Amino acid sequence: LFFRDAQVNLTADHLLDGLLTAEFSYRSCRSRYEFGSYHKNSSHKPSPYLLSKLRKQEALQKRCGPGTPAYKNALRRLQSSDGAATGVEDGDCRYLVNISFRGLGNRMIAVASAFLYAVLTERVLLVHWGKQDAADVFCEPFPGATWLLPRASGKRSPLRNLDDYGGESKESLGNMLQSGGAVVVSADGNVSWASPRRPPAYVYLHLSGGYGFHDKLFYCGAHQRLLRGVPWLLMRTDSYLVPGLFLTPPFVGELEAMFPEKDAAFHHLGRYLFHPSNAVWRAVTNYHRANLAGAAGRRVVGIQIRVFDKKQPPQLVLDQLLSCVRNEKLLPGIAASNDDAVLVTSLSSWYYERIAAEYGGGVAGGGVHQPSHEGKQRWGDASHDVKALSEMYLLSTCDVLVTSGFSTFGYVAQGLAGRRPWVMARPSPWEEWTEGQAAPEPPCRRALSVEPCFHSPSYYDCAAGRDVELDRVRPYIRRCVDVSWGIQLV
Ligand code: GDP
Repeated sequence: LFFRDAQVNLTADHLLDGLLTAEFSYRSCRSRYEFGSYHKNSSHKPSPYLLSKLRKQEALQKRCGPGTPAYKNALRRLQSSDGAATGVEDGDCRYLVNISFRGLGNRMIAVASAFLYAVLTERVLLVHWGKQDAADVFCEPFPGATWLLPRASGKRSPLRNLDDYGGESKESLGNMLQSGGAVVVSADGNVSWASPRRPPAYVYLHLSGGYGFHDKLFYCGAHQRLLRGVPWLLMRTDSYLVPGLFLTPPFVGELEAMFPEKDAAFHHLGRYLFHPSNAVWRAVTNYHRANLAGAAGRRVVGIQIRVFDKKQPPQLVLDQLLSCVRNEKLLPGIAASNDDAVLVTSLSSWYYERIAAEYGGGVAGGGVHQPSHEGKQRWGDASHDVKALSEMYLLSTCDVLVTSGFSTFGYVAQGLAGRRPWVMARPSPWEEWTEGQAAPEPPCRRALSVEPCFHSPSYYDCAAGRDVELDRVRPYIRRCVDVSWGIQLV
């Protein structure tokens, strides 16, 4: 598929069935309209209701985003030291700042969650990417508006040191609820702001793994009503919160209408929001053309190997992978005439070398390929991020996916692809591998859907006042195959 000039007739395929608007120029962000040609077989169509919500959000981002009079006004009120002019009137703009952290996969599933929460609560989404620059890797998703939070100017601005917010911050919803004073809870369970009966100018939402009981009350209807009047919410999360939003009573009806196919939430949100910058997309398409594109009918098997514990012997990880692909017959037809290809992504080159040796380059008439081996995870390094993102996108073009459990890097690839991966069980990132530990049996299992797993859900049912089994609450929420305490939309 070639676009030789800017005058391109954009079809439903380019626009992902209406998910994208045609408001961007083709050259400003090539991936936006070329993604579709690398991902031909999505069986999931976005609902008309989702499309109307996206268009509405785009209008909101345009009307209230950085650079608009409304934004200046909101910022002034946030920074005014007297704090008197807070609270929102009808028609005022309200904001959600997403404070992202950890690797790219974590950041992407977190931003997608924050975006959906912004849509549900009619807030403008602004992204704080931390030390790195999101613009190095992504194009802007909203036409005529930026989603990047401008650098805070005022010395006392609550937006100044965003990376310092954490579980201890006194402005967090959890701490406000725990210490009492700021919030009054009535006998019928309703919550409201104490004196002066006005919401604060901003509230920090601590929603990262290991958060406490009071932070998790975020998922209660009463607390969502409390937050409605707060002009600025600052949310720090590294997780895929969407299944949690499906458990939050005031959002359920809207979400069910937006996503008749619950198992395609990230598939749509991710393809809507994330468009690799031209530099990343060049890396993706050049690599794809040179190594993965083949005769019609070629299958590419993508293998993502992510090892969290350095002590885990690589040989065991390799054995697990090989028994997975054999058991599930994922690399069949080892005949030399077979044109199939294998794409391996990993921080290490060792697995790639072993897989290439195992299949003698023959599987694999199409060869075994690994785009990079970065050695270790790095932060604040643009070229490292370019490689990571381009590999997620390359994986997403594969016909078959084998991923490592627990890894958000794999979740993003499977979600963009709309393909259910075979997931290899892994010890969790904070579990130590122990000598003689039995190999996981079976070595891999098919994920129940293409959705990312939400690793840290709240089990607390606010109305009932007790913990519940989350996989029994709604027919479309199940436990993940890789994280036993996590939940997934299916
Ligand atoms: P997770 O830690 O597996 O959940 O995924 P994240 O993407 O959040 O963090 C892992 C980070 O390590 C990535 O963003 C990359 O920077 C790096 N990384 C991990 N695996 C790979 C890989 O296969 N290829 C490349 N290029 N980078 C990787």
